[in-house]
Amino acid sequence: MKAAVVRAFGEPLVIEDRPDPEPGPGQVRVKVEASGLCHTDIHAARGEWPVKPTPPFVPGHEGVGTVERLGEGVTHLTLGQRVAVPWLGKACGRCEHCLSGWETLCEQQINTGYGCDGGYAEKMLAWADFAQPVPDGIDPRDAAPLTCAGVTTYKALKVAGVRPAQLVAISGVGGLGHLAVQYAKIAGATVAAIDVTDEKLELATELGADLVIDARKEDVSKVLKSHGGAHAAIALAVNEAAFSAAYGGLRRGGKLVMVALPAHGTVQVPIFDTVLDGTSVIGSIVGTRQDLTEVYQLHAAGRTRVIRESRSLESVNASIDDVLGGRVKARIVFEM
Ligand code: NAD
Ligand code: ZN
Ligand code: ZN
Repeated sequence: MKAAVVRAFGEPLVIEDRPDPEPGPGQVRVKVEASGLCHTDIHAARGEWPVKPTPPFVPGHEGVGTVERLGEGVTHLTLGQRVAVPWLGKACGRCEHCLSGWETLCEQQINTGYGCDGGYAEKMLAWADFAQPVPDGIDPRDAAPLTCAGVTTYKALKVAGVRPAQLVAISGVGGLGHLAVQYAKIAGATVAAIDVTDEKLELATELGADLVIDARKEDVSKVLKSHGGAHAAIALAVNEAAFSAAYGGLRRGGKLVMVALPAHGTVQVPIFDTVLDGTSVIGSIVGTRQDLTEVYQLHAAGRTRVIRESRSLESVNASIDDVLGGRVKARIVFEM
């Protein structure tokens, strides 16, 4: 089977021919149909975060396909069933976090495409308990971006506690942001979308944003404040300055939800303003299996649109360049 492999940080991925992986106990082998390119995969391939994967590895945590082999003890999945293999490849199921509905914080977790091989391949392994069944009627090419970009932004809005009549700022209308705009609208909010390219701002409007802010030309904090300030700002742009700008646009009691993970990122938070304004700064990491179930339900009900562009796995390096160059409308999906 073919796989795109990171052999060394910062070097182009290499397409390799590898033997089909054999599922161990509790695992399944998935024949991948579609696999999304998340910006996280780029951080992984460049070794940009403090905790690094170990090359060689296969990135990708938006792999969707059909189960083609069952490992020992797997009884709840069937051959041919469509599943997705998300970032949360496995969690312990026993710790405080797992038991309190926060499996995404489990310290024993293994992350797909980071701690084990991921979805940039024709075949991949998954732990059966974390392989997410994809409902019939959802196109696998839609399911792929929903598996990270969807669940992550859906969860971020839950964490922010967004309610109708609130102003929500979505900073960065990329793979994650184009879905965030839609979930914020579903939650009943007024949405301000922020980006730095005309295409992304147009897309945000098309997807329901009430107001768009061009961070190249406008002072994001000022514009948000002129609308009363955001109740919540979801930071999805891979840019530190964008975090500060979103923070500066909060109203009193507002929440900044940090989601993007720029390399070596830090943000200076003014203590005085944070205290006096009762501001919250919260981190949010992907979502649980239940969150993903809800994301698929919304999509199956026709309430979200996935904006995607299909490519072949061979185009992986050019595709990464296109994401970094801002030339992708929302999400690239590799079709196997
Ligand atoms: P993307 O490249 O598709 O989107 C980023 C968007 O930000 C682009 O539209 C870009 O034009 C825009 N942007 C750049 N500079 C900006 C600025 N100054 N102001 C406003 N917008 C700006 O990336 P993505 O796949 O959506 O991922 C975004 C980030 O989220 C990455 O760092 C990724 O690693 C991270 N991520 C985090 C989680 C999590 O669970 N916390 C999950 C998935 C991805
Ligand atoms: Zn991701
Ligand atoms: Zn755990």
